[in-house]
Amino acid sequence: MGDARAILDLPSQGSDSKLKKMIIEIMVKPDRQADLARRTDLSAASVSAAIKELTNKGLVETEKGSGSSGKSRGGKVQLRQLRGVVVGVDLGFNHISVVARPVTSSFDQVVQRRETPGMNRGLRLLLPDVLNLIQDAVEETGQKMTDVVTTGLAVPRMVDPLTGTFTPPVLAPWRAEDRPAQELSAKLGVPVAMDNDANLGALAEQTYGSDEAIEHVAYVKASTGVGVGIMIGSILLRGQRGMAGELGHLTIEPDGEMCLCGGRGCLDTIVGAESLVAKAKQAQRGSSRDIPSTLSALVHNAQNGDAVCGRILNDAGRVLGFALAQLCNLINPRHIILGGELAEAGHLVLDTCRQELTRYALTGTVHQDGDFELRTSALSPFAEAQGALILGLQSRSSK
Ligand SMILES: [Zn+2]
Repeated sequence: MGDARAILDLPSQGSDSKLKKMIIEIMVKPDRQADLARRTDLSAASVSAAIKELTNKGLVETEKGSGSSGKSRGGKVQLRQLRGVVVGVDLGFNHISVVARPVTSSFDQVVQRRETPGMNRGLRLLLPDVLNLIQDAVEETGQKMTDVVTTGLAVPRMVDPLTGTFTPPVLAPWRAEDRPAQELSAKLGVPVAMDNDANLGALAEQTYGSDEAIEHVAYVKASTGVGVGIMIGSILLRGQRGMAGELGHLTIEPDGEMCLCGGRGCLDTIVGAESLVAKAKQAQRGSSRDIPSTLSALVHNAQNGDAVCGRILNDAGRVLGFALAQLCNLINPRHIILGGELAEAGHLVLDTCRQELTRYALTGTVHQDGDFELRTSALSPFAEAQGALILGLQSRSSK
């Protein structure tokens, strides 16, 4: 059996660079040649030549194509036997999520692990648990920790695309000096690539969330705060310092509550988990009812008919819809996909969100006839970890 590590260690410059890029994209997802060309921005001729060479080397094979009257669309190109495991990690405020799979397996065959609490304990206490979860997931794939070839890491922070470090302000419980990717890399012995969790949710949704190719995707992670990841074609819109898509700090009420970022009336101060839970506590003070202490508990109560919690989520959807209407007018996404704990509320949030989108966005940007779709994440709650796994692989194309 071949070794994925040997392929990923090939130089990213020179004659083998296209072969390496191609095989990495097939590790991300087996696809037809035309789709591989679209995903890699390589010409059809370059893709065809690379696939031919990889086939001759015995590394890939092409499924029999489908089609009628002798006209074949071409089958999916997939890897042959290859040893190696890829890992994605998502560090949330109160969760750790890990996904792992052999490089030859499909994204929907991934081993998933999720544990609470998360980063609210601080990085030093968190890392040993992260490593245990990775080990547990990797062993379930039937391979060993020494077979891990790449790892990606999702964090709920802005990450500078030039340096790979946090862009200020670095809000608690994170500290500016935290280096989670480097620390994890030292323990695992492989490079660890890091990016913002909403960015990676968008990458995963565009790659795995739909059977068809979707150019423009906005992924909204709404939990402790709200972040948006934006894919435009094969480009993840990060901005100069990784601050693109910080919708949580969009000013909604200029005279509103103070925000952690130093702003006032930010979206996070209205629909962030802490704010929603505080509203429930305030409304239910003095009552003997089950008062939620987390957003997940609030969602659970609402789904069980609690009128206060239901109304809080309806209202949150309304404010979120107003904010997303501004986003629609700016970038005109085809899909807006809601992830994070707030997405667990389903229609309790989506219905009012959709109403406000329709009310405030330019009609053409949110019209169903334009194929616009607002939905919850099909990959939830592992979208960010799946995106991290993709990032880990793709980051090797340039290293
Ligand atoms: Zn703010």
